Amino acid sequence: MEQVTDYFGSLVFDDKTMKSKLSSDVYKSLKKTIQDGKELDISVANSVAQAMKEWAIEKGATHFTHWFQPMTGITAEKHDSFISPESDGRVIMEFKGKELVKGEPDASSFPSGGLRATCEARGYTAWDPTSYAFIKDKCLCIPTAFCSYSGEALDKKTPLLRSMQAINKQALRVLKLFGHTEVTSVKTTVGPEQEYFLIDKEAYLKRPDLIYTGRTLFGAKPPKGQELDDHYFGVIKPRVQEFMNDLNKELWKLGILAKTEHNEVAPAQHELAPIFSTTNIAADNNQLTMEIMQKVAKKHNMVCLLHEKPFKGVNGSGKHNNWSISTNTGLNLLEPGDTPIENAQFLLFLVAVIKAVDEYQDLLRISVASASNDFRLGANEAPPAIISMFVGDDLALVLDSIETGKPLAHKGSNSLKIGVDVLPKLPKDATDRNRTSPFAFTGNKFEFRAVGSSESISCANIMLNTAVAEELKKFADILEKSKDFENDLHDLIKKTIIEHKRIIFNGNGYDESWVKEASKRGLLNLKSTPEALPHYLNQKNIDLFTSHEIYSLSEIKARYEIAQEHYTKVVNIEAETALDMINKYYLPSITKFSNFLIDSYKNKKELGLESAYEYDTLKTISSAEANIYSLKAKLEKALEKASTISKVEDLSIYLKDNVLTVMAEVRDVIDSLELIVSKEYWPFISYGDILYSVK
Ligand code: ADP
Ligand code: MG
Repeated sequence: MEQVTDYFGSLVFDDKTMKSKLSSDVYKSLKKTIQDGKELDISVANSVAQAMKEWAIEKGATHFTHWFQPMTGITAEKHDSFISPESDGRVIMEFKGKELVKGEPDASSFPSGGLRATCEARGYTAWDPTSYAFIKDKCLCIPTAFCSYSGEALDKKTPLLRSMQAINKQALRVLKLFGHTEVTSVKTTVGPEQEYFLIDKEAYLKRPDLIYTGRTLFGAKPPKGQELDDHYFGVIKPRVQEFMNDLNKELWKLGILAKTEHNEVAPAQHELAPIFSTTNIAADNNQLTMEIMQKVAKKHNMVCLLHEKPFKGVNGSGKHNNWSISTNTGLNLLEPGDTPIENAQFLLFLVAVIKAVDEYQDLLRISVASASNDFRLGANEAPPAIISMFVGDDLALVLDSIETGKPLAHKGSNSLKIGVDVLPKLPKDATDRNRTSPFAFTGNKFEFRAVGSSESISCANIMLNTAVAEELKKFADILEKSKDFENDLHDLIKKTIIEHKRIIFNGNGYDESWVKEASKRGLLNLKSTPEALPHYLNQKNIDLFTSHEIYSLSEIKARYEIAQEHYTKVVNIEAETALDMINKYYLPSITKFSNFLIDSYKNKKELGLESAYEYDTLKTISSAEANIYSLKAKLEKALEKASTISKVEDLSIYLKDNVLTVMAEVRDVIDSLELIVSKEYWPFISYGDILYSVK
């Protein structure tokens, strides 16, 4: 039988393959490029391209592409074949070094937020050699960054790589102070757990809302939802199991470390967790995972829904961004150590994260802001829109002892002295987890749970890396000048705890009282995307990004514009789809059913029979129908008004307050009718039919 170890990574030009296909000189110089982030010499690039091409052709590839992540959030590729004509009419398969390192896609249709006028549409893509090339659908894919000719980032990868450099630089300064001169690079690591829904393709095709918007715009709750919690970690259905097996195999071939899979809380909802890797690789792999999930589902006659909230009243999907910081010597900087000095170092990195999350709450909120995720955050199934941190009771006691100088319970009479004392053992236990916190410490990493299931993880990690880099920089600036390291370190940690402990909340984030408490603490509560996005342009955020060279001012403005525009487009499409469904399906169907009732009522009357069902139902339906008709007109008017608003920030607020609200209102009426109108007359299949479509 075929073993996983036989095909794991078989479609990846990974380190092992490079070693076997490249001369040792070329291999060494490529490795150096990868480690130091230097530019690749063209003669080396030529040899690498040659070897890559031969390897890819052996595996059946005929084309190559620069694979990149434009600001649309999905990945883009333009395939070129390897063939090159010869004078005698034959072709040879060719791939040159310069084609490997640089590409020029005609990129005029990708969003640039005004960075690139359409007349100078061309941007270029540049190989990110730290992420391996791979083969997908007979095409050699080269992971690349995408920039304009003036060097502005047009993608999600470039700023992510820049943010990794920023945190590397500052963390190295801090580590040096702790005597870690052997460490030469620091990288952030991420393990993104991915949630998704799996439904039957036939069911999907019967719902225009799912097809056009990725979510159901209408639909009454089924008699049985997730109340019994019988789906969570339940037995996986054979058809789903086959899908998962196939998916794992495809991911493993691409060297993606898919590790665990299980049923989630909602019916038809599942989760896939990979083993963590370096952040840019994790981001690439997550993009691929989402793409392959959808492809494999299709093969199994199912559809994989990645939308954050496909069904109202049923838990939505997120992506848990497990994040930590590691050295090239294998040290996890967010893991408590065994000695006083290791613990002091851990605490310093910990308070850097605490300070970062507090000072840049707005950026973390923005990084997960989207029209679709707005339905999930704060709906008591996912973290609230208020950004806070969970550190657990044990660590909270430690921080408290440092802050107040009061003794830790188990330690007798002394308070915890940084650099002298060992931390009490902190449990790394999953049972201790607070599932209601957006940002939870889980023993040796943080889990950022607010990220949406369909989003690229790049944005969240750009914000995190950069904010933490900034705090480490401030710490290093202070401590590098210190004459009494141990004392100054203690004071710095203590001061940071005092100033930023408001961000720590270990209680129930779903509780109403937390909203009040958070507001008392002065924490932000940015409930929706239109409310969150303008914070992008706060001076402190512009300073952060420009000083660490993550974004230039024009790049920040471009990202802001794109995010705003995306929001408005999504809401518009949803509203148009809703109107279409109302006009062409719901109203006519309701009228038909009314006619049926009217006929029946008349017939029964003639015969002198009881007709209360017809009469009462007709009354309810006709008043609801009138209501739908007037709400529909209100929605049409709101959309008309929206089309006259030119400032994008005004438009997004308007859509939120005047379009989404009416859509919700009209939906309520239609959903209430779904419960009383005969199934025969109802134009669309029900939630029950969709959620239990995979047998
Ligand atoms: P579980 O939640 O099942 O107990 P873990 O806590 O071990 O499992 O891991 C959850 C996710 O966190 C996995 O994707 C895992 O790879 C990831 N993870 C574990 N350690 C780290 C780390 N140091 N950095 C980033 N992600 C990590
Ligand atoms: Mg988790």
